[in-house]
Amino acid sequence: MGPVTKRLSGTRFAGAVRGTFKQIDGSEFGGCFVMKVAYLAAWASGAFSQKLERLLNRLSPCRLCPRQCNARRLEGDTGLCGQGGLPRVARALPHFGEEPPLTGTHGAGAVFFSGCALRCVFCQNHQISRENRGEEIPVPELAALFLELQAKGCLNLDLVSPTPHLPFIFQALALAIPRGLHIPIVYNSHGYLLPEVLDLLTGLVDIYLPDAKYGSERAARTFSAASDYVHWNPIALKRMYHQVGPLQVGPDGLARRGLLVRHLVLPEDAARSEAVLKMLSRISTRIPLSVMAQYRPCHEAAKHPPLDRPLRRGEYRRVLAVAQSLDFETLFVQSLDSADHYLPDFSRKDPFSSSPSPPCR
Ligand code: SF4
Repeated sequence: MGPVTKRLSGTRFAGAVRGTFKQIDGSEFGGCFVMKVAYLAAWASGAFSQKLERLLNRLSPCRLCPRQCNARRLEGDTGLCGQGGLPRVARALPHFGEEPPLTGTHGAGAVFFSGCALRCVFCQNHQISRENRGEEIPVPELAALFLELQAKGCLNLDLVSPTPHLPFIFQALALAIPRGLHIPIVYNSHGYLLPEVLDLLTGLVDIYLPDAKYGSERAARTFSAASDYVHWNPIALKRMYHQVGPLQVGPDGLARRGLLVRHLVLPEDAARSEAVLKMLSRISTRIPLSVMAQYRPCHEAAKHPPLDRPLRRGEYRRVLAVAQSLDFETLFVQSLDSADHYLPDFSRKDPFSSSPSPPCR
């Protein structure tokens, strides 16, 4: 494994292995580092309302994600992801567990949405993704949460698992923008997305933070009940890259715009990591890649060996070596004990509080 340049205390990420994020020259923006947040430009041009209307058209029957389960969500049905006719939020809080350029000093403004279209047997957020913990709230309350996070000094709106809630999110933005919302959006997702939905987000989303989970259909079927993940995920990553390019970071080290991809390494190479990394390198090695070591057997993982044990150091190092051999310009790495410090427990007020993490199951 190559040298880790810097340990960033207080974050679960150990730093870039090599390379740096592209820095934008402030002079490009009239001498001060200002970049107009995407949805504000769309708001000013009138494009925002057209896109919102098209997102609403996909809500009921629902065709927001590749499941396209056609649930009539505005008529009382719930979809395969468990979501109905209102946004369901599990927690909204400043969050310090994302990669450093997304966190800043006051944290990412994380909104953890309930529900998920995938069925990952090892999901560390299973309390909200599968058990559907959270509260349905009216759209104006969601807008108020966005504004509260901004008032707390959060760097961005970090929308976690937003896809089933997209139309509500943009309805809430339409209420919050006239009241002064101006921080960028981070679209933090599993990377299982439809290109036509991503096209509707062009010019609305500043930063994409997707997973690239699997390199084989068999793994995607066995561990997430979605063999088509390996079909949709590369298409989605390409679309995101074409929309926003690689992550751009200002002189202050904070992200303004772009794509950063995450890959969670699984025991015994169950994710088929080399295939994932090769796929991503074919899109661009300029995409910063976060190679995650925080795997711990959560949820139903005990029934799915080899996922019934933590990751070993050698397994993680082998994937890092592949990433380095593919010449990714920027890698984020984690220490192997990251999971012990950052596994969430959504029965707590702060799911990421510094007290020791609960047992995973
Ligand atoms: S977002 Fe949920 S309701 Fe909509 S298609 Fe996907 S699984 Fe079905």
